[in-house]
Amino acid sequence: MPFKLFDIGANLTHKSFKNDFDEVVKRSLSKGVRNICITGCDLPDSQKALDLAKKFPDNLISTCGIHPHYADSFNENSEKEIQEICKNSLVKAIGETGLDFNRNYSDKKNQIKSFLAHIKLANSLNLPMFLHQRDAHKEFMNCLNTETPKINCVVHCFTGNKKELFEYLDKDFYIGLTGWVCDPKRGAHLKELIPLIPLNRLLIETDSPYLLPKNLKVKGRRNEPCFLTEILKKIIKERSESENEIIEMLSKNSFCFFNIQQ
Ligand SMILES: [Zn+2]
Repeated sequence: MPFKLFDIGANLTHKSFKNDFDEVVKRSLSKGVRNICITGCDLPDSQKALDLAKKFPDNLISTCGIHPHYADSFNENSEKEIQEICKNSLVKAIGETGLDFNRNYSDKKNQIKSFLAHIKLANSLNLPMFLHQRDAHKEFMNCLNTETPKINCVVHCFTGNKKELFEYLDKDFYIGLTGWVCDPKRGAHLKELIPLIPLNRLLIETDSPYLLPKNLKVKGRRNEPCFLTEILKKIIKERSESENEIIEMLSKNSFCFFNIQQ
């Protein structure tokens, strides 16, 4: 496989990977997905993500943070705990963090408070941010204007409209695309947006075990990093650059985003 793909977001701490984590990673490597970033959704989960990354330190990295769904758990000790976990050099980003007003599993005010604190922390630790936004674009932008990130940011699992896309690009954010782009219904509006994203701002991610590309028929419906190639194929189809150029640039972008020397 000539590929050197980077899955910038996979929830490999999820219980569905408990019994075959090693095989999942090895299968990904055999399909050309050489690097995976394991995302943390709260602090115990971020520790778990780091512990898993340590099993394949040449291929795996992790994030540390509190997902907006769990923002109610953000408290006066959280910042210290995040700083502690981030001491390990395999932790390459702060996140997931952001706002999710779709499900509102956590109080809106707590989400905003946690998000602002995460931006401050990312700036002080000089770590990029892995951002989640759902049904909260306006407030999300407000937070980013209140506390300005001085580090790289990716809006992961981008599913928004053209206006939102351009507002992120104006901030020089990276755009993370998932298997949504392979969904002929839910992802239909993304088809015309894919070519509008500057190639040097594009990143790809599976968000495993969620968002299995719709075209795949997989028993159990569990998504895995090895299916990143489906997202890649869709992007190649919708863009004018050559396959090689796209693969090279996606790889370069990923390492640049996480500040990893190759
Ligand atoms: Zn997310």
